[in-house]
Amino acid sequence: MIISQSFNHEEVLGFKFGYKLIGQPKLFSHIYFVDGLLIDTGQSKMRKSIIAATKDLDVEQIFITHHHEDHTGNIPELQALHNCDVFASERCCQMMKAPPKLSFIQKVTWGDRPAQEDLIPINGSIETKKFRFDIIPIPGHAPDMVALYEPTRRWLFSADLYLNSYIDYFLKGESISDQIASTKKILALDFKELFCSHKPQLKNGKQQLTKKLNFLESFYHDVSLQYDKGYSANEIFKSLKLKENWFVKILSNGYLSKLNMVKSVIRDLEGKKQVLN
Ligand SMILES: [Zn+2]
Repeated sequence: MIISQSFNHEEVLGFKFGYKLIGQPKLFSHIYFVDGLLIDTGQSKMRKSIIAATKDLDVEQIFITHHHEDHTGNIPELQALHNCDVFASERCCQMMKAPPKLSFIQKVTWGDRPAQEDLIPINGSIETKKFRFDIIPIPGHAPDMVALYEPTRRWLFSADLYLNSYIDYFLKGESISDQIASTKKILALDFKELFCSHKPQLKNGKQQLTKKLNFLESFYHDVSLQYDKGYSANEIFKSLKLKENWFVKILSNGYLSKLNMVKSVIRDLEGKKQVLN
């Protein structure tokens, strides 16, 4: 089943796309259009719908928040359609020259994306005719991820910083401590709407992101207490009675799992220990 919907919020046009071979999709990607700027390009699995939804827009520039396949799935197609430049953070431009391989479940859910050689690096801010968006690095979920913040309208395009107020699994390289630091950095800003790429929060954006921060901090705290007792990642997983989503873990070949969240805390604690020694 295919879901392709759009909504307006102030001057922002949001698009929601979801695809599942059988039944209702549960995961959605969002792309946003504001004053000539298209933020992200969605997943390649939804290419036809994304092109149909955006073909009549006056897109003057495209901005990519990070290298993940559900944000970069249609870069050449949308760039050709609108004949415009595509900008991204320096790190994202580098990563997209040879993007990491995807697991089976990522290919099935979102679809693959090719390498990109001609993304244009930009930092500081990106301007449209009416607005100026601060580009804010928010590493953790991905090392190259950035948010766009428009301070006069108090809009925050948060990429995948929020996702939900709790998280069930991490990709292999995700850093929980970087996510905590990035979330705190964003919470210090004065914003209203949280234009998340998967679960937008047009009301109470700040409260929702605070809930996520509380979840991450308490998870980190719980794991550290067990780690201090000398437990391994698997022992901590059992002692905290955590549950794995086996469907996701197996189909991703371990690339996505809750155990990765535990391992991320341990990596951070071990890194801190090394600094102290
Ligand atoms: Zn992502």
